[in-house]
Amino acid sequence: MIWKMVMVNLLIALLGTACTSTGPIRSGQFPIIDAHGHIGASFKSTMILELMDKNGVSKQIVMARYYPGPAGYFDLPGDDELALKLAEKYPGRFYPLVGMQRPLLTGADKWTTPDADVESLIRETERKLASGKFFGIGEFIVRHWAYSSGRHAEQDNPIYSELMRRFSKLAARYDVPMVIHMEGYPTLVTDFSRLIAENPGTRYVWAHSCGRSKAAVIRNVLSRFPNLFCDLGGMTNVGKHYGSGWPRMEEFTSLIERDGVFLPEMKSLYEEFPDRFMVGMDIAHAPAMRSYSRHVRRFHELLEQLSPEARAKIAEQNAIRIYKLAR
Ligand SMILES: [Zn+2]
Repeated sequence: MIWKMVMVNLLIALLGTACTSTGPIRSGQFPIIDAHGHIGASFKSTMILELMDKNGVSKQIVMARYYPGPAGYFDLPGDDELALKLAEKYPGRFYPLVGMQRPLLTGADKWTTPDADVESLIRETERKLASGKFFGIGEFIVRHWAYSSGRHAEQDNPIYSELMRRFSKLAARYDVPMVIHMEGYPTLVTDFSRLIAENPGTRYVWAHSCGRSKAAVIRNVLSRFPNLFCDLGGMTNVGKHYGSGWPRMEEFTSLIERDGVFLPEMKSLYEEFPDRFMVGMDIAHAPAMRSYSRHVRRFHELLEQLSPEARAKIAEQNAIRIYKLAR
């Protein structure tokens, strides 16, 4: 009787595998590091780990989101302690950054002239980096398009500002990268270029395919600045997500793929600069964890289109090197 049940369960498991692998690419064929992850109090750590294991995600960069989720969406805010606890609970799987999605950093004036609260945040960040338990700072919300009211509304903060200069120095001193969310408006690309040029010892990760910029712009900045990297966080075009052009597209933005095929100009970039890109699922809100597998599967499918060298680097090796995960 027990054997019969075991056989039935085995059959169900096999059928389940068969059903989920109808596409040409199966998840888990090569390991991936999720280099753009978030955490809030509504996320369930066991669920995250289960989804990572199921999809062949070896490690995750995790950034606390201090904002609550959009109104009507059950999604509590988080903090760095939460990210740290996750890292301690599952050693070698989660790598926290000092989180910068904070209500405190709302408003351009805080960026140009740091007030007492911002000064204390800078000191607190330094203390956290000195502990050796954090692997970067971010993500900084510089230019963000609204997808709800409240904290996820439009944000327009200056990239070339006292705040960014201070954090750039701190990041260089502690040898950790900064993650920047900034839609690639041409004037902002110019301002950012100035910040990067003045801080050659700071590693900058410009999230979401360098602000969803077009290939020519990405090629230009990567050629000029060896200390600049792009994460492809959320750029999988699998539904209502950044990668699909949601919540907005502009003349200067680009997708990276259509129907699971890299745009040719983007694919050329990855082969040309295989050391400069990383992938990430960018699940910012707990209820969206249900789409985690879909994003990883799509990245597997996309990365399969690259040469083995570029694939291994972008899937895993670059994140280890850029964030110094092996330290
Ligand atoms: Zn972002």
